Amino acid sequence: MGGIRSVFVLNTGSSSVKFRVVDPESGAVGAEGLVERIGEPGSQTPDHRAAIEGILSGLDRGAIDAVGHRIVHGGDRFVQATLIDDDVERGIEQLSALAPLHNPPGLLGIRAARAALPELPQVAVFDTAFHAGMPAAARSYAIDAGVAAEHGIRRYGFHGTSYRIVSERAAEFLGRPLDELRLIVLHLGNGASATAIAGGRSIDTSMGMTPLEGLVMGTRSGDLDPAVLLYLQRNAAMTVDDVDELLNRRSGLLGLSGRGDMREVIAAAEGGEAAAELAFGVYVHRLHHYIGAYLAILGGADALVFTAGVGENSAAVRAAALEGLAGLGLQVDAAANAAPDRGPRRISPAGAPVDVLVIPTDEELQIARETAGVLAQGDLRP
Ligand code: AMP
Repeated sequence: MGGIRSVFVLNTGSSSVKFRVVDPESGAVGAEGLVERIGEPGSQTPDHRAAIEGILSGLDRGAIDAVGHRIVHGGDRFVQATLIDDDVERGIEQLSALAPLHNPPGLLGIRAARAALPELPQVAVFDTAFHAGMPAAARSYAIDAGVAAEHGIRRYGFHGTSYRIVSERAAEFLGRPLDELRLIVLHLGNGASATAIAGGRSIDTSMGMTPLEGLVMGTRSGDLDPAVLLYLQRNAAMTVDDVDELLNRRSGLLGLSGRGDMREVIAAAEGGEAAAELAFGVYVHRLHHYIGAYLAILGGADALVFTAGVGENSAAVRAAALEGLAGLGLQVDAAANAAPDRGPRRISPAGAPVDVLVIPTDEELQIARETAGVLAQGDLRP
């Protein structure tokens, strides 16, 4: 990959910076860590610039070849990883309206890293890019076409960096070419989404214009009747911001049970707490909904893949997600599912019609790879 041996990967949140220094080819990690509570009262880190300077003071700056940034929303403009210049930075800023919770922190990370490392090329890797080729029927909302076009209202999809590396790893694990495979991938983390992948391409995904649509998440509602928003504003004296806060931060597992972490929900449900049982039930019901939909959209699947925090670690969620689906070819081997393995693995019984896999994701490594890939296309040093 054109001599890029060390990429400084940054995943910047509103009050946190997650980083890794990684060799994009071997995956060898030079350093990694997390700075939290940026800008909070009593914190040693007043802003993102200070966070990144602090991280760099502990690293060998001279050994870094490039910087890779995770950016959530690329809109219609950024359909692949892109070398950052002032114009790209402005473009990402303009997309903040579409992703108000997610793009502004990414932009702070870009600005801080460009100021701290002006001599290095920096690349933005977009969560939406993997879904850019989704068929129009999956991409479009059934609303007035003029309004949709004027405001960029369509389904974009997210978690694409994860889907790319997980689908490649699944093909490797199966020893089959990715372009022959029909995959259903369930990225179940704090944010959660499902994607139908045919021949390595996203053909449908559960998140939409923003990362709010689709599955039940830690604090996000996922799918609901859009008229609920209207009703709450008309009849419950809620403002636009109140509804935003309700659906993004006080819904999902947290809203249903008072607990946003799946581990706690499962423990409480096992203790017989009715609200936690319901939260788990709604979560699993929504998974069934999408698994069924994607089997139909793909015309059957070669493999179903679990990934991210919940998908990789929770045997209980995996078992519940596929319970009763043997008639659709989906089965889980209880012993394989319960085994404490960490790496890529099969959890379906031998000879089952659909392989059920657990494949760890690695978004940081994929960002490093795509960063190196962009830079290998030419001499792009600023
Ligand atoms: P991620 O966003 O991929 O880092 O995933 C974070 C989520 O994974 C957290 O909300 C945790 O609840 C969940 N998680 C991690 N380990 C487990 C586990 N053993 N069982 C259930 N959920 C887990």
